[in-house]
Amino acid sequence: MKDFAHATLLLRRKLGAKVVLTDAAALEAASYDSSRIAVRPAAVVRPVKREQIGVLLKLANEHGVPVTPRGRGTTLMGSAVPLHGGWVLDLLGLDKIGVDAEAGLAHVQAGAKVGDVQKAAAAAGWFYPPDPSSKDYSTIGGNVACNAGGMHGGKYGVTRDFVVALKGYLPTGEFVEWGTATRKFAAGFNLRDLWIGSEGMLGVVTDAVLRLIPAPAARWTLLTSFADEVSAFRAARALFAARVQPAICEFLDRASVTCAESAMKTTIFPGQPGRPVILLELAGSEAELKDAKKAVLAWAEANAAGHRAAKNRDEAEALWAVRRKCSGAMFQMGDAKLNEDITVPLGAYEEFAVWLEKLRASSKLAIPTFGHLADGNLHVNIMYHKAVPAECRAAEKAVLALMKKVVSLGGAISGEHGIGLAKTPFLRLQHSEAQIGAMKAVKQALDPKGILNPGKMFEVFEVWKQPRVTVSFPWDHK
Ligand SMILES: Cc1cc2nc3c(=O)[nH]c(=O)nc-3n(C[C@H](O)[C@H](O)[C@H](O)COP(=O)(O)OP(=O)(O)OC[C@H]3O[C@@H](n4cnc5c(N)ncnc54)[C@H](O)[C@@H]3O)c2cc1C
Repeated sequence: MKDFAHATLLLRRKLGAKVVLTDAAALEAASYDSSRIAVRPAAVVRPVKREQIGVLLKLANEHGVPVTPRGRGTTLMGSAVPLHGGWVLDLLGLDKIGVDAEAGLAHVQAGAKVGDVQKAAAAAGWFYPPDPSSKDYSTIGGNVACNAGGMHGGKYGVTRDFVVALKGYLPTGEFVEWGTATRKFAAGFNLRDLWIGSEGMLGVVTDAVLRLIPAPAARWTLLTSFADEVSAFRAARALFAARVQPAICEFLDRASVTCAESAMKTTIFPGQPGRPVILLELAGSEAELKDAKKAVLAWAEANAAGHRAAKNRDEAEALWAVRRKCSGAMFQMGDAKLNEDITVPLGAYEEFAVWLEKLRASSKLAIPTFGHLADGNLHVNIMYHKAVPAECRAAEKAVLALMKKVVSLGGAISGEHGIGLAKTPFLRLQHSEAQIGAMKAVKQALDPKGILNPGKMFEVFEVWKQPRVTVSFPWDHK
């Protein structure tokens, strides 16, 4: 791999040693993301002014230096790994947040934490619904680049549904603005939406204008249990068919509940250990909630094996414990996890549940599954032991079978995490050559020298063959 020493020296002269870092600690920290795949960059660049990004990109184009934009590095897909070395563009220094309380808009710089945006919105009486579990760490730039989702997706939507306008730099270094701080904008091609979900390959986001909604006055939580997964999925469809729109509708299968219960040392429904559950949260005005509660309780009576409603926030928090605990607790079933984030269309829920049970049996692996039922986004966690070659092979086969199945059902290989490096072997299952050709043509048009986040999405990368760094993150098991 090239060392880009000369170009790095030139960049340092232009931006200064405080912005262009080459010390071992900085290079090491920017070499990996949450995928734990590591490649050392030549420099880490931490701009303190927006214009420095334009300078960097122009120089990168002149000297053919790869540039990998980076927020907090929480992506699980390897999308922030500087695969071909070069410069990591760390945006954490640009983190200002302003709320226009009259217009219901947030003006946010790329490095701002999503959780901080939510807090700033709440302080002004507004609500920013996109809520990835990584929200206390991940940045708005990263969320825009990955079109991050979360538990609120079914009712409110994902990051894309809240982005009004973006500012930033083309890969060639020109500053651009996609949209204005007005909710409507029909002037020209919509390149704003092209940037959203482009995983840092079509431009660098520096600023976003985000739409806010009025904060719901009240919330109500209900935990329901079911005899098996198929009954739970069938019940969820009945709920949506009844036109009930919960703010949150989280499903946990038997294995996920069993893991959480063993971590909590209690059963959530006495006498019914390890039953699949659906955790519902309604949000809205007191009047809206009154009617919705009635409908949901009638639904639970008719469909669930058991249900528990929270009378206050403390009780709600107790019901939430099973969801919060399940992900970390899965490591009792294996020391390695393939956390897939597939989507399944509502009409195929029961078929998918039956198929997944067969996959568990044929692979002989634990595959605890949980996720967001209102938008069909399920986290299928394939657990295995790293030191057992047969389990590694079985996990590799299981993930391929899973991807083929969801595509055949009309679903997606990723609902929120993106492609990065980890999902590159499956892109062709989802997309035809014509579709991939169109995506590559866009990339070529915007980034003719191919310097922005190269090696992602289109080149097949065999994550299985890669060594991983041993590192623990503050967000592990969130
Ligand atoms: C514990 C945990 C829970 C998670 N939960 C969820 C979840 O519920 N929902 C969900 O959707 N995801 C989730 N994720 C995945 C991850 O948090 C999201 O993809 C998030 O959007 C990444 O943000 P980041 O700031 O860490 O970006 P990074 O990981 O640093 O980068 C991610 C991608 O965005 C690009 N990028 C970053 N900043 C910019 C920018 N300013 N301009 C252009 N490109 C940029 C990078 O090049 C890279 O391709 C989770 C991850 C973890 C570890």
